[in-house]
Amino acid sequence: MIETEVNTSVFVFGGGWSGQRAAQELAEMGYTVTIVENEPDLGQARQKAEFLANAAPKQGEEFQASIKDLPSSKGIESLTGTSLLHFEGMPGNFRMKLLQGSQVVERQAGAVVVASDLQAEPLYETYGLTPSSRVISQSQFEALARGGQADDSIGQGKKIAFLVGLGQEGNTVAMRRVMQGAQVVQERGGQAYVYVNNIKVAAQGLERLYRDSRESGAIFFKLSAVPEIKSDGAYIASLDPVLGQEVALDPDLVVVEEALRVPGDAPKLAHLLRIDLGPWNFLQENNVHRFPTLSNREGIFVVGGSRDVADLAGSWTDAANAALEVHKFLGDGTKLAPEAKAVVDKEKCCFCLTCYRCCPHGAISWEDKPVISPLACQACGICASECPQDAIQIMAFEDDSIKSQLDQSLSQTAETPNLVAFCCENSSLEALKMARLFGLDLPSGLRTVHVPCAGKVDLDYLFSAFLKGADGVLVLTCHPGNCKSVRGNTFAGWRVENVQRMLANAGMDKSRLRFATLASNMGHELAGILSGMEDDLKKLGPSPLK
Ligand code: SF4
Ligand code: SF4
Repeated sequence: MIETEVNTSVFVFGGGWSGQRAAQELAEMGYTVTIVENEPDLGQARQKAEFLANAAPKQGEEFQASIKDLPSSKGIESLTGTSLLHFEGMPGNFRMKLLQGSQVVERQAGAVVVASDLQAEPLYETYGLTPSSRVISQSQFEALARGGQADDSIGQGKKIAFLVGLGQEGNTVAMRRVMQGAQVVQERGGQAYVYVNNIKVAAQGLERLYRDSRESGAIFFKLSAVPEIKSDGAYIASLDPVLGQEVALDPDLVVVEEALRVPGDAPKLAHLLRIDLGPWNFLQENNVHRFPTLSNREGIFVVGGSRDVADLAGSWTDAANAALEVHKFLGDGTKLAPEAKAVVDKEKCCFCLTCYRCCPHGAISWEDKPVISPLACQACGICASECPQDAIQIMAFEDDSIKSQLDQSLSQTAETPNLVAFCCENSSLEALKMARLFGLDLPSGLRTVHVPCAGKVDLDYLFSAFLKGADGVLVLTCHPGNCKSVRGNTFAGWRVENVQRMLANAGMDKSRLRFATLASNMGHELAGILSGMEDDLKKLGPSPLK
């Protein structure tokens, strides 16, 4: 382990509600923060996502009051009208070029927080509606509601129809906005009608809000398809599944739900930062190992609307979490890290760039040869297994040490069939421990090889296992979308398919080599897979390579 200096400046991309909150949290911890925002000033950045404050009025006001002096706050610099041009370097020492107006500005930072606000897009077309004074968006409704009692368009005697969860997969933020809106209508003497598909209440306080809004008199129609609506919104009809008859309404106002999306430049930002996109271009891949605010790269964190559909409360919780993560990563500017997690043999390297392209953690930079950052590297071994020159070795999992594990384990067993299982430490190794703890029946000829990720299982290892006397070989890895190293399981699956083809060409039964995915708590399933394979190998008999 060596002590490494890291830069204690932090860059926050996005100067809206989430970005300003993240900047505040970080500045309070003593970090120097630079906010980068495309809009000409931070006020406009917030205004673009005003619906976030309108949907949570109390927090919005609280925050408006607390950030008045933000641009001049100690430790916070705001670069407005600015966009990212170029990003390089490694965690602890990122370097970037920014375009501010026509000027190129250069900066360095130890960590980055991506905190763009969501953008609301009314789904008029999905419902076959045209916006008008009668047909408005959820944001427009919230602005009216914020206007107070003086606005009678949503008050006494008015029939207000809300459409939600039918134009898109429902979400808790949209549900909360609608239920709050329905309550406002009821409080002001109007009548709220909510046309909804699935009522999503899996968020704090939503179950209660749903009950309260029904008790306040709001009527919910739970439908499986968009109701029949005139394009001017003057008529809505739907089949009531309980009454078994059509229920028609002539609303005074139709409030249309909004899709909440990341800004259009999110893919470009993700490309520059080398972070993976998730569904709908959110800047966090759908992977359990990333929650709540991690990205696939060390030192880069994502919060609020950058990573998922989130309201103001959710974004602020994320901002606080990201600040803690930054603190964990940067500390006071010195960090204890292994001198190397993976090393490149310069003599062997043929500069093919394969490692640079396949590293899922953006841990490799290029200085006329690949350089692996010990702060960024997760020691998954994907690069080592993909390198055509075998020029990369992972500390504690060097090729020689894995092959000697194989030698030892296969020479020590007289039991047949000999079954070698390569176990990823994030899933199947834990499942194996569980199976042993529960005393489940495991094949007597089972020998396991510990790998940091199935992405480290090289073609050579598979061949070696057979050549050293295995009757069957298993590669056990994480479920799709659950791999800590994003694609380690995918690479392993490809390699197994490749070797299966070669075994078949050589006249061997390809089912002697298998691939399976598991979670760490699947001890019983693992025992089932192993004993199933043992039975099949008994039928096949000893390997012809023995
Ligand atoms: S994959 Fe191997 S040979 Fe290719 S650049 Fe990386 S270290 Fe060099
Ligand atoms: S071991 Fe994994 S994280 Fe480290 S450089 Fe190689 S591919 Fe990247």
